Amino acid sequence: MRLGMLIDLRTCIGCHACSVACKSEFDVPLGVFRDTVKYVEEGKYPKAKRHFIPVLCNHCEDAPCLEACPTSAIERLEDGQVIINKGDCNTNKFCMAACPYGAIYIDPEEEVAQKCTFCEHRTAQGLEPACVDACPTKCRIFGDLDDPTSVIATKAAANRTRVWKAEAGTKPKVLYIDPQGALQLIGHEGVQVPTATRYEANGPSVSTWSPPTSPPSPPAAPPAAPASAAGSNAPAGSNAPAGSNAPAGSNAPAGSAAPAGSGSQALPPAGSASKPPAAPPAGSASPAAPAPAVTPASPAGSGGSK
Ligand code: SF4
Ligand code: SF4
Ligand code: SF4
Repeated sequence: MRLGMLIDLRTCIGCHACSVACKSEFDVPLGVFRDTVKYVEEGKYPKAKRHFIPVLCNHCEDAPCLEACPTSAIERLEDGQVIINKGDCNTNKFCMAACPYGAIYIDPEEEVAQKCTFCEHRTAQGLEPACVDACPTKCRIFGDLDDPTSVIATKAAANRTRVWKAEAGTKPKVLYIDPQGALQLIGHEGVQVPTATRYEANGPSVSTWSPPTSPPSPPAAPPAAPASAAGSNAPAGSNAPAGSNAPAGSNAPAGSAAPAGSGSQALPPAGSASKPPAAPPAGSASPAAPAPAVTPASPAGSGGSK
């Protein structure tokens, strides 16, 4: 038996149900992942495109992490899963340096190396891995690659499959149906990779988008509301409503950049899903706050780092 996973990128919708299910199954701390979904964008409006690419440990047949571990904490199980026995890990990180996929992290609470196990505790009981179970589009298939009658082997035989970083020579057992060649656009680090532009007039090329050098200034803070309680020193007849001098949209400054997670990049401003400046409240005589010159979008996807 040779267990593997097939992920059909044609039907992945980037919902992160898989990553959340994995986190829940293993109580994975904030900031680290066993499974995540990389977002890759390419092209320019109106031909822009976004790809969703779930990634996890590939349970490589020639696993360099296994070779690199000096304490033999990493082992291959009978059915091909590569697992880390945390009791034998001394956190030297040799495995992290050896893995071409960034699939291993140091658990910040237990201080041991950890990664995807192919949910061997579940599959041993006849259950699907948690991420496979949670996927609403069923684009993840888990099973025996050596059994020609299995669903995964049948689907792999009927479609052209690819692996991520085949050039690393590790013989991954996570296969992808990727007719648009999105895998070749993934960066190694982080969840969000730079926007890629492949289709130029003079042939394929890849360029990256850089964030603005100086972020837009947020609108000035509103002045304090005038006192209106009885006994205040306001002149008789003064009935200005509290907050009437506040600039429109001051509670949610349009164009403010959400914090990006480490290793992540913001999405490009043009054609993005960023919100327009908020409309002034009805009846407000206050002028609307000036729109910032540049409106960076919030980073899509998870902001965690590997
Ligand atoms: S993906 Fe990385 S951690 Fe997983 S088996 Fe391959 S080398 Fe090891
Ligand atoms: S197989 Fe299990 S450990 Fe691996 S990514 Fe899926 S849920 Fe996480
Ligand atoms: S749960 Fe399925 S559809 Fe959603 S991101 Fe994961 S693989 Fe894609």
